[in-house]
Amino acid sequence: MPTSNPRHPRFPIPGGNEIRARGWRQEALLRLLENVLSVGEDPDNLVVYAALGKAARNWASHDAIVHALKTMDEDQTLIIQSGKPIGLVKTHAKAPLVIMANCNIVGQWAKAEVFYELERKGLICWGGLTAGAWQYIGSQGVIQGTYEIFMRIAENRFDGDLAGRFVLTAGLGGMGGAQPLAGRMAGAAILCVDIDPERAAMRKEIGYLEEIAPDLDAALEMIAAAVREKRATSIGLVGNAADIYPEIARRGITPDIVTDQTSAHDLVYGYVPKAYSLEQVREMRKSNPAELMAASRASIVDHVRAMLAFQERGAEVFDNGNLIRTHAKDGGVENAFDIRIFTEAYLRPLFARAIGPFRWMAQSGDPEDIRKIDDRLLQMFPDNRIVTNWIQLARRHVPFEGLPSRIAWLGHGERTELALAVNDMVQKGELAGPITFSRDHLDAGAMAHPNIMTERMQDGSDAIADWPILDAMLLCSSMADLVVVHSGGGGYAGYMTSAGVTVVADGTAAGSERLSHALTNDTALGVMRYADAGYEESRDEIARRSIGYIDLA
Ligand code: NAD
Repeated sequence: MPTSNPRHPRFPIPGGNEIRARGWRQEALLRLLENVLSVGEDPDNLVVYAALGKAARNWASHDAIVHALKTMDEDQTLIIQSGKPIGLVKTHAKAPLVIMANCNIVGQWAKAEVFYELERKGLICWGGLTAGAWQYIGSQGVIQGTYEIFMRIAENRFDGDLAGRFVLTAGLGGMGGAQPLAGRMAGAAILCVDIDPERAAMRKEIGYLEEIAPDLDAALEMIAAAVREKRATSIGLVGNAADIYPEIARRGITPDIVTDQTSAHDLVYGYVPKAYSLEQVREMRKSNPAELMAASRASIVDHVRAMLAFQERGAEVFDNGNLIRTHAKDGGVENAFDIRIFTEAYLRPLFARAIGPFRWMAQSGDPEDIRKIDDRLLQMFPDNRIVTNWIQLARRHVPFEGLPSRIAWLGHGERTELALAVNDMVQKGELAGPITFSRDHLDAGAMAHPNIMTERMQDGSDAIADWPILDAMLLCSSMADLVVVHSGGGGYAGYMTSAGVTVVADGTAAGSERLSHALTNDTALGVMRYADAGYEESRDEIARRSIGYIDLA
């Protein structure tokens, strides 16, 4: 039975034993589509997160996808082009059930303006990665990533501890909303600025944000008190980051850590320029996108100049994957890239071993399934400090959103071992239903994004999109249930390409075969990609795990 969803009453959270499709594989994918809407930011418009990231092109496409998933057989494949179902063809039971290509525009044409024009004509939509691939699990999906970044900074600069440290950030949307909880879990006093009072109120309601300050003075006092007492806290502040950051800098206050997760990647549908109200911006998105774009860029210039000022005064400043430096540089901030990207600064040694955000979701809707998998995971990997620490913390602090799910940073071999153990649990009836496995697109072999994932790769291969395309082809050959190739849309047009994958643990022997091939080959390619770029950690992993890399070095 689906359960009610107070946040979006029209979009219940799927679950239960009753299946509407012709098999669990198809049913599971249908539930994932329903789930991204139930936890999405604006499901009435099919928008899941990142300003424009959509689950389907339009409602007619959505309904046709639902119909196809309910009526297709296991030996058919549904083809989806940028959120629109194109056809259902006969393949075989080991082929993917769904293949998608989302928002891939030919090189010289891959620009925001062309994207908006194609979108206006109804020819394309941006899948926002986990939105279009039906893998989004709410803000909980990025919490561990954000937490690990804070902990790396703690280890590098603050003796392993953020107690008594002030973190300044902005953006309380679908992804950015994870920041207050991740900051508090890391022990910091974190101030999160957002222009939209509803977004801030929502994060407080679901327990991610502790307090909302009435104004900047009060916010800074609350932070100062928490810093003095070395007390972890998360404070929200409604305001424009392009006003608030420079004002904090002007007062001579220097936070310990500064970042930003406003939807700065999209100058029209995402970022809100200062001196404009939300209502004005909503209206201008239709009436005057060109002026809005220019105003957003000008505000981002001020916003990033303040971040650079904090960096010059000794704060740890990083870009959290929203292209804010890119737009600042276009606006004339020549040294915007003095701010480092989080992947290169903190996470690359993990990606070089294909350790990245791996997630699983209980199709039954029963949170007990996730707890039982937590227990199994802790038994299986007692020496993996990152995972054991995270699972204990997540159990205590991270509320479920939508279908109960968990995300944990696991690497090559570990993902397959866990998935096979879980498939076995499903087969033995130890869990209430099947489990789906997917991973973030921000993963070793899966993403080319020269301003985020692959910035300053050791061999300069930052912009080569062969890797995600190879990954998607490999996943199709490796029996995955859903495979997708995404490129950027909106402000990300021309900036990235990635591959996504979902595999269903339905408790069958065929399920084990699918999980084993797809998950093993996905991470093997990730390790090979980094080995090919010259990373020592990858070569070590190749030797340790006998990965079939052809070494021409
Ligand atoms: P979202 O659209 O759901 O939320 C963005 C938030 O920013 C909104 O709440 C909006 O009100 C606020 N905002 C916009 N302009 C502002 C301003 N000038 N001052 C203060 N607040 C402002 O987007 P999201 O899903 O939270 O994603 C945020 C950004 O992070 C996007 O650019 C996204 O692509 C990027 N992202 C990064 C990662 C990563 O791994 N680091 C992962 C996913 C998304």
